[in-house]
Amino acid sequence: MSDQSHRESRGEASVCPKCGVGALVQKKVRLGAMVGCHIWPRCDYVQMRSN
Ligand SMILES: [Zn+2]
Repeated sequence: MSDQSHRESRGEASVCPKCGVGALVQKKVRLGAMVGCHIWPRCDYVQMRSN
């Protein structure tokens, strides 16, 4: 039994800076990658990520 105290998993999602409640999810789009709020369209926060 390993007693590893991992507080949070690595794949912790960032919180949307606009609404503060939604999580940012990454989506693949034609131009590359796009990060958007997961409660879209209630929150329209979108951030483009260039390669
Ligand atoms: Zn949001």
